[in-house]
Amino acid sequence: MRLLPLALGITFLSTAAMADDRSEKFLTCLAGIKQAATAAGISPSITELALKDVKEPAERVLKLSEVQPETKFHIWDYMGFLVDDQRIEDGTAMMAQHDATLRAVEQRYGVNRHVVAAVWGVETDYGRTTGRNFLPHALTTMVCKNDHRTEFWRKQLIAALQLVERGDLQLEKLYGSWAGAFGQTQFIPTTYEHFAVDFDGDGKRDLVDSVPDALGSTANYLVGNGWRPGESWLIEVKLPDNYTDPTGRKNKASLATWRDRGITRWDGSALKGQGQAGLLLPAGKEGPAFLTFKNFDAIWTYNRAESYALAISHLADRLAGYPAFRTAWPTDDPGLSRAERLELQKRLIAAGYDIGEADGKIGSRSQAAIRAHEEKLGWDPTGRAGRKIFDALGE
Ligand code: CA
Repeated sequence: MRLLPLALGITFLSTAAMADDRSEKFLTCLAGIKQAATAAGISPSITELALKDVKEPAERVLKLSEVQPETKFHIWDYMGFLVDDQRIEDGTAMMAQHDATLRAVEQRYGVNRHVVAAVWGVETDYGRTTGRNFLPHALTTMVCKNDHRTEFWRKQLIAALQLVERGDLQLEKLYGSWAGAFGQTQFIPTTYEHFAVDFDGDGKRDLVDSVPDALGSTANYLVGNGWRPGESWLIEVKLPDNYTDPTGRKNKASLATWRDRGITRWDGSALKGQGQAGLLLPAGKEGPAFLTFKNFDAIWTYNRAESYALAISHLADRLAGYPAFRTAWPTDDPGLSRAERLELQKRLIAAGYDIGEADGKIGSRSQAAIRAHEEKLGWDPTGRAGRKIFDALGE
């Protein structure tokens, strides 16, 4: 009987001790970061200024870093909000506004200007949403979290401070995602260090406030990651019945080989052109089929996801005036645009669900409301923002 209270006492003490210990560890880690920055050639005054308000880990960053990446999503949902009418309209307007810059970028790097604009559109909605985490704090939090990527985070932090040391950027411009991606096309600091260019010629590489620098740097990045001037990135195709030959982005073959395998353009006409391509079936054989080229792979490196590269590639085609995919996604419940997601939230609120303010982002409260309404309708509760629930709430 005496053991139990004693054990509890120890637990209580150690919880308090753990908090102290955590804070002490953070301060020790912070001191180590300052030393590492100095060793990397960064002026102590810059490091001090960058870290002067960093007293503890950024809770928001810790929380976001714990969110498991969404591994299972419907490709038609992802494409639905990344390549929606609004993003095509906005992109067309932004391309007109920055036409001279985009053409100059295309001329210098050989990267199609619609692809450069599409990266800009998907990454930050053409510069509108660049992230609000102060990089020195966010990256210090990640370094001191002491997970298996500590060295990666430390490199990002030092690279961010080096941009200030060199005079490319001022400290107050270092705001971005929790993971350190920032600026108009969301480079992480080491990518910035390697690929950023001063396209407007003012002597600074400013991917935060200079659109020419950001667009030139994006093209330079793509060139550095395998872009081939003049080649395609994506072609929608049609499979023959009972197709059993290879699939996959990496299983590349010449267009002649794909012709021999019975693949045609979506309208049945013969494949033409140059380059090695793989066959991508993002939703299986029943959905749209694509030949993807090495330029698609260059886009892929930006975020290392085929769905991402598909969104950029397709947005680029839409911005160039080509139509939507001819083959429908194999579903009777397609995805929604951002405008429709916002409207769905308004419909949920009108139906009496408390989801806070409608902001177009389908978070846990919106999902819970969708689930509740699905149950009310006698459907399986999925929490997914799709066409069916959108229509049901509009009736
Ligand atoms: Ca510049």
